Amino acid sequence: MTMTTTQIRLAQRPKGMPEKTDFNWKEEQLKQLDSGEVLLKTLYVSVDPYMRGRMSDSKSYVEPYKVGEVIKGSVIAEVAETNSLDLQVGDIVIGNLGWQTYLVASENELRKIDPNQAPITTQLGVLGMPGITAYFGLLDIGKPVEGETVVVSGAAGAVGTVVGQIAKIAGAKVVGIAGSDEKLTYLKNELNFDEVVNYKSEDFKDQLKQACNDGVDVYYDNVGGEVSDAVLRLINKGARIPVCGQIALYNLEKPDLGPRMQSQLLINSALMKGFIVSDYGAHFEEAIKDLAKWLQDGKLSYRETIIEGFDKIPDAFLGLFKGENIGKYMVKVASQSE
Ligand code: NDP
Repeated sequence: MTMTTTQIRLAQRPKGMPEKTDFNWKEEQLKQLDSGEVLLKTLYVSVDPYMRGRMSDSKSYVEPYKVGEVIKGSVIAEVAETNSLDLQVGDIVIGNLGWQTYLVASENELRKIDPNQAPITTQLGVLGMPGITAYFGLLDIGKPVEGETVVVSGAAGAVGTVVGQIAKIAGAKVVGIAGSDEKLTYLKNELNFDEVVNYKSEDFKDQLKQACNDGVDVYYDNVGGEVSDAVLRLINKGARIPVCGQIALYNLEKPDLGPRMQSQLLINSALMKGFIVSDYGAHFEEAIKDLAKWLQDGKLSYRETIIEGFDKIPDAFLGLFKGENIGKYMVKVASQSE
């Protein structure tokens, strides 16, 4: 049987803030299954800020997408047909797969998910790459100690919400920075952050200083730019600064010439260290075990922003840069079969 799929491809490299015209849609016929391959029905597609980097052709830690190529990222899918001994029809899998409604994949590029352990969408968020990123960045580089002040920017997003909650588990005072009052209310009332500050407020710097009245011991940097400049002015001696993301800079067309903060690091004997979650690839299981336990014990909670419809994937991706999401942002493409 021949089968048609719809794909979303990179039409051109975005200039500055990406636009919908940077993507195009294409119908393709899927090939027959070879041995070890499965036909997948896409259920959920993750949109992630790092994909913006892959749409440019500058050097980074992952290969850029090619113009005309199907966009790839984390996808949860259901096996619809199988030519694999390991995967059965109805199995739920995750992989680094294309933005397309159906696809053919090799069993080797897929990991089976146990749908009875937790809702399958958690594999894209709290129990997936963002949760693991939060875990290692905070605990291996930030190393928060009871009573210290941990500041996290991008606090209401997929990574930030987990960072703040792990910092609370470690006994720290947690200050979250985010871009809307709705997000601040969520962080304070549902995740029990100690202080929350909106970086879009006119008196952001004053509010931040007040919130961090004992200075800053750990700054988990998800955004970079002026927000980070303001936090770095408040660091204490021996502060640790995991540099996880710089979303405020991803769409700049010219290099950002901000204040140079090295003297702050120098006079405070502070450590600033960038990292990529895959640096910890050999230890992912440790993180997943702890995250799952905290979830089960009610010490960790999560939100997901899920919009529906394959055609909405580019909108959701663009929405990351407008702050549309609380928690993990993803698109539901199809329902699981009964
Ligand atoms: P989020 O779920 O946090 O979504 C992005 C959020 O960033 C938005 O909701 C928005 O929230 C905020 N934002 C957007 N533009 C700006 C801006 N100009 N200034 C400040 N905040 C902005 O995404 P993730 O949790 O998936 O990722 C968070 C960060 O971590 C990103 O920078 C990402 O690249 C990085 N990352 C790094 C990894 C690594 O291995 N090092 C792995 C995974 C993620 P708001 O309303 O608050 O503005």
